[in-house]
Amino acid sequence: MRVSGHRKRMVLILAALSVVALLFGCAQTQASLQKTVFRPGTYTASAKGIGGDVKISVTFSATDIVSIKVDQHNETPGVGDVAIETIPEKIVKGQTLNVDTVAGATITSKAILTAVEECIKKAGGDVAAFKAKQPVAAKKAADITQTADVVVIGAGGAGLAAAVSAHQAGASVIVVEKMPKVGGNTIISGAAYNSADPERQKNAPASAGPEATVMALINATPANELHKQMQATLKKEYEEYKASGATYLFDSPTLHALQTFEGGDRKDDLVLIKNYTSKTLAGLHWLESLGMKFTDTCFTVLGALWQRSHKPVKPLGTGYIESMTSYLSAHNVPIMLETKAEHIIMDKGRAAGVIATGPSGNKVTLYAKKGVVIATGGFSKNIEMRQKYNTQWKTLDASIPSTNHPGATGDGIVMAQEVGSDLVGMEYIQLLPMGDPQTGSLSGNIEQGVENRIFVNKEGNRFVAEDARRDVMTQALYQQPDATMWVIVDKHSYPTGSTKNNFNETIDELVESGRAFKADTLEELAAKIHVPAANLVKAVAEFNKAVEKKGGDPFGRTLFADKIDTPPFYAGARVPTVHHTMGGIKINTETQVISTKGTVIPGLYAAGEVTGGIHGTNRLGGNALADIIVHGRIAGSNAAKGM
Ligand code: ADP
Repeated sequence: MRVSGHRKRMVLILAALSVVALLFGCAQTQASLQKTVFRPGTYTASAKGIGGDVKISVTFSATDIVSIKVDQHNETPGVGDVAIETIPEKIVKGQTLNVDTVAGATITSKAILTAVEECIKKAGGDVAAFKAKQPVAAKKAADITQTADVVVIGAGGAGLAAAVSAHQAGASVIVVEKMPKVGGNTIISGAAYNSADPERQKNAPASAGPEATVMALINATPANELHKQMQATLKKEYEEYKASGATYLFDSPTLHALQTFEGGDRKDDLVLIKNYTSKTLAGLHWLESLGMKFTDTCFTVLGALWQRSHKPVKPLGTGYIESMTSYLSAHNVPIMLETKAEHIIMDKGRAAGVIATGPSGNKVTLYAKKGVVIATGGFSKNIEMRQKYNTQWKTLDASIPSTNHPGATGDGIVMAQEVGSDLVGMEYIQLLPMGDPQTGSLSGNIEQGVENRIFVNKEGNRFVAEDARRDVMTQALYQQPDATMWVIVDKHSYPTGSTKNNFNETIDELVESGRAFKADTLEELAAKIHVPAANLVKAVAEFNKAVEKKGGDPFGRTLFADKIDTPPFYAGARVPTVHHTMGGIKINTETQVISTKGTVIPGLYAAGEVTGGIHGTNRLGGNALADIIVHGRIAGSNAAKGM
C-alpha cells in the first residue's frame, strides 16, 4: 500500500519526467538521422522488485526511448522509490541501459532496468547496443558559496530534527546530504521510539513489568553519587506506584535511564542518559505536533527490555522523515542532496561552516554564522573503521552483513576528529541476531514484538532468553549451528495473511517469496524448515508453560504475552548483522562537541548515531530513534542561539 501524498508527488514527478523525456526524445530523433531502431508504440513489462512486481510501460518512437512510466510498484517508501524516480530519467536522458543502480535500492533499480530491457526487445531494439552505450557525462556545475545561520550535515532523523528545531528557533538553515535521498538509516529502521508515556502505558497490564527487574536496578551497587540518587528516586517512584494500587504497567524516565545505564554495562554517561530520558516524551509530542502519528499502545521492540516502545503508524521510519521534511519544505529550508561534507571550516577556534562536494564534483562552501551540526550517523558500512575499532566481536570484516544504508561510513567522526573532537566508546558495535540471511537487512523479519515469539536453532531448540539484551542474544546465536536461527510466531502475530510486519511486508508476501514459511501444525512447519519436529514441538510447549505461569522459563525469560498455540504457525530465518555503532563524537548535554582537551569546541554540535556516550556497550532496542530526536532538537535550538 502506498502513501497517498507520496503517490501524488510521484505522479507529478513522473509527469514532469515524461515531458522532459519527450523534449529530449525529439532532440535525439533529429540527431539520429531518422534511422529506424524500434517499432514505435508503447510496450509493457514487469520484473521482481523488493515488494513484488514493478510494472512499467515504455513508449518508443522509431528512433528513441521517448518515455518510461512506472505503472505499479510496492517498493519500500523512502528507499526503492528513489530508484523509481531517477532510473527512468537516466535511461531516457542517456538513451542507454548503462545506468548505475541507486545505492541502497539495487534490487528496485535492477527491476526497472530488466523491465525496460524487456520492452526494448518487444519493440525490436538492440539490447546489447543499449547496454554498451556510455551514459551522458554530467557537466561540472559552478562552485557554490552560501551562508546561513546554521548548517546541518546529514538528513537522517537527527539532522532533520536539528534543522526543524533551528528553524523553529528563528535561524536560517541549510542541510547537506551526501546521498541522492534523505532519510539515512532512520528511514529504513524498525522505527520504535522508547519513552515512558503515562497515556499509552495505561493500556499495558502491570504484569508486563517484572518486579524483579525494578528491584535489581534499585539494589545494585551504585557507580557514583548520581547513580545513588537515581536509585533512591526509582525506589520512591515504585513505592508510590505500588501504594496507588495501579493495575497498569509501571514506568518512569528514571527506570528508563537506569535500564539504559545497566544495559550499556555502565560504560555510558549517566548525566547524558538522565537528560535524554527526561526529554523523550517531549520529543514524541514534538513529532506529533509536526503531524507524525503513533499507535495507541506501547510494545517491546527487540532488546528494549521494557514495554515502552512506540510504533509509528506509517511504515518503517517514513513517518519521522516525512513529518520533518514536510515542515522543512513548507518553510523553504533547502536540503542539498548528493552534497558530501568533507571538512568543517574553523575560524579562530570556532566552527564556521562546511566544505562539501556537490553532485557534479563542484565545490560547495557553506558558511554558518551561528553553528554547525554534525548528524552523519554511524559507521556500520565502513569495514575498515569496523575492523579498526572492534574489540567485542571475533571479526567484523566484509563477511558480516549490515542492516545499514550505504551512506553509514563514519564521515562525521573523521571530520570532527580533524578539528580536535574527542571520541568515546568507538569499540562498542552492536550486532543484531535479526539479519536477512541474504542481505543482512532487517526487512523480512517476522517478529512483531518481543513477547510473542521464540527463537530456535537449526536443530529446533531454543537457546537464549528471547527478551535479553541484543548483544547477549547475538553472542548466543554465534554459538548455534551456522549461526542461523528461526523466529517462530503464530496467528497472534499475524491475525490475517495481509497483516504486515514492521517493514511494510505482509506475511503472505513473505511466504510467497520464500522468506517465511507457513504451516497449520508445528510438525508441518518443522518439516518445511528442516528441523526435527519433536524438538520444535518441545520448545514451543516449554515456552507455552512459562507463558501460563508468567515465569519459570528455563532460559530465564520474563516478558510474555500469548502462547504460541494458534495456527497458522510461521518461521523466518535470521543471522547476525551489524546494526549500530554506539561510539562516536563526545558531546555534553547541550550536544556541544567536546575536544580532546576536554573543552567545548565553540559553534560545533553533534547529534544521533555519530555521537558516543549514551548507549555504552549495548544500545537498548528503541533507544536510537528517541536519541536522535531528543539530541537533534537540542543541537538545532542551541546552534540557532550560537551558544
Ligand atoms: P541518525 O539516525 O543519527 O540521524 P542516519 O543514518 O539516519 O543517522 O542519517 C545520517 C545521514 O547523514 C544519512 O542520510 C547520511 O547519508 C548522511 N551523511 C553521512 N555522511 C555525510 C556527509 N559526509 N555529508 C553529508 N551527509 C552525510
